[in-house]
Amino acid sequence: METRKNPCINCTVSQCQHNMVSENYCVLDSIQVGTHEKNPTVPECTDCKSFVKRSCACDTSDGCKF
Ligand code: SF4
Repeated sequence: METRKNPCINCTVSQCQHNMVSENYCVLDSIQVGTHEKNPTVPECTDCKSFVKRSCACDTSDGCKF
């Protein structure tokens, strides 16, 4: 498992396997950011396209429905 944080990518998505969890940082060298909207207007319109669902069963929440 990667553990070297990228201090340039602050991220709180602990459900992603690229997230350090112990600290709110991504461990990737770079990420791809995109949008699911035709005309994005607010931060919520954007998505990290490098997200990969953490495979461990430690997260008991229902998870994203999309
Ligand atoms: S890949 Fe994206 S969602 Fe996952 S930890 Fe990195 S910045 Fe966060």
